[in-house]
Amino acid sequence: MDLRITEIFLSIQGESTHAGRPCAFVRLTGCPMRCVWCDSEYTFTGGTRISFEEIYARLKEFGCNLVEVTGGDPLAQKNVFPFITRLLDDGYEVLIETGGFFSTEKVDERAKIILDVKCPASGESERNYWANLESLRADRDEIKFVIADLNDWKFAKEIIAEYDLENRAKEILISPIFGIENLAEIAETVSRSGLRVRLNLQLHKYIWGADVHGV
Ligand code: SF4
Repeated sequence: MDLRITEIFLSIQGESTHAGRPCAFVRLTGCPMRCVWCDSEYTFTGGTRISFEEIYARLKEFGCNLVEVTGGDPLAQKNVFPFITRLLDDGYEVLIETGGFFSTEKVDERAKIILDVKCPASGESERNYWANLESLRADRDEIKFVIADLNDWKFAKEIIAEYDLENRAKEILISPIFGIENLAEIAETVSRSGLRVRLNLQLHKYIWGADVHGV
């Protein structure tokens, strides 16, 4: 079996409660969504078909126990499910970063899911697969709202309340888009919310810049 891959690399995890940890990334090609602020459009097409065995060999070379399977949207390829299971069987700690359009039902239950909810400014909020929010595991799964403006923050608060996410998710990540002008205002607004949320800045972009990938 194989997967269509855009890049495999070793770096520092830039987001979530795992931020700052050494992490190997397997970035799959393809995503059916088109968020207006997408920072990984280079994954939409192209890529190379790589066998599971070759990917596992690359990961072994890295010697890093934390692996993130990302995209694009990794759940767009059906082979990703047995791939994830094999990683877990081999003892890796596995993070799955998904855009929130596909069901997470078939993801091996040992994996830790970081699930996006698309807010209105993304242009894709109508395509969120809401049933995913009902199956979050509070001991491991994180939910991420990418915020482009204060209207997105308002939307996030409504969804947090409607789905009781403070009790359903391990962490609620509020992630302002990189380079946003009113970051301080958003940070202050989040700090006054009284909600169990975490401001999530993309560490890797502060280190290497917004347009650099594969590092
Ligand atoms: S779901 Fe992710 S990869 Fe797909 S368009 Fe949106 S931000 Fe880009």
